[in-house]
Amino acid sequence: MSRGSIGLDDRLNDYVVKNHAPEHPVLAELRILTGRMPNAQMQIAPEQGKFLAFLVHLIGATNTLEVGTFTGYSALAVALALPAKGKVVACDVSEEWTGIGRKYWEKAGVAAKIDLRIGPAIDTLKKLAAEGGEGRFDFAFLDAEKTEYDDYYELTLPLLRKGGLVALDNMLRDGDVADPKVQDRGTKAIRALNRKIAADPRVEAVLLPLGDGLTVARKL
Ligand code: CA
Repeated sequence: MSRGSIGLDDRLNDYVVKNHAPEHPVLAELRILTGRMPNAQMQIAPEQGKFLAFLVHLIGATNTLEVGTFTGYSALAVALALPAKGKVVACDVSEEWTGIGRKYWEKAGVAAKIDLRIGPAIDTLKKLAAEGGEGRFDFAFLDAEKTEYDDYYELTLPLLRKGGLVALDNMLRDGDVADPKVQDRGTKAIRALNRKIAADPRVEAVLLPLGDGLTVARKL
C-alpha cells in the first residue's frame, strides 16, 4: 500500500481517499501494482497526487520538474493535470522502477509529456541550469534522497520562475522530526531544511500534514 496521510486512522483515511480523491483509472492501477512491491511506502498517497494536480491547475503550470520518480505515480498525476504542451522533467537513478512508470505513462497517453532523465538528480539539476533552465519551471516536486534534499532545494529554486512552486515530500518523517531521540542523518537533514525553509526570505512556505508531510514553497 501507499501510505495514508499522517495521523489519520484507517477509517478516516478511507473516507478521504475512497470518497474524496477520485483517481484516473491508470493511476489507480499503478498505485495498486506498486503497493505490492517491497518499497511500496515510497509511493505518494493518492490524496497527495490529487493535491499536486490541483497545484498544477491552480498556477497554470506548463513546465514541471520532479526529483525522485520511483514507479511513476507522481509524474503521472502531474502529467495528467498538465496541458497538452506541458512537460515533466523526471529525475531518477533507477531504470527498473521508472521502467514500470513508462508503461503506465504510455497507457494513460501522457508518455510524450514526460522527459525522464536517469542519473544522479544533483547532476541533472545542474545540467538543466546550464541548458538555460533558470526561471523556466513553474512547478517542482522533490521526493528522493532525504540527505540530499537541501541540495535539490537550492538547485531547484533558481530553476523556478517567480511565483513558481516547489513541493517537498516526507517533511514529517512519520513523526520523527518532532522526536528528539531520533538522530539519523535523514531525519536531521529534514529537520534542518524545515527550519531553513520556514525562515527563508526567498519563499513563502507551508508545511502540510498531507501524506508524510508535504511542504509547499512559493518562490517570491
Ligand atoms: Ca516520499
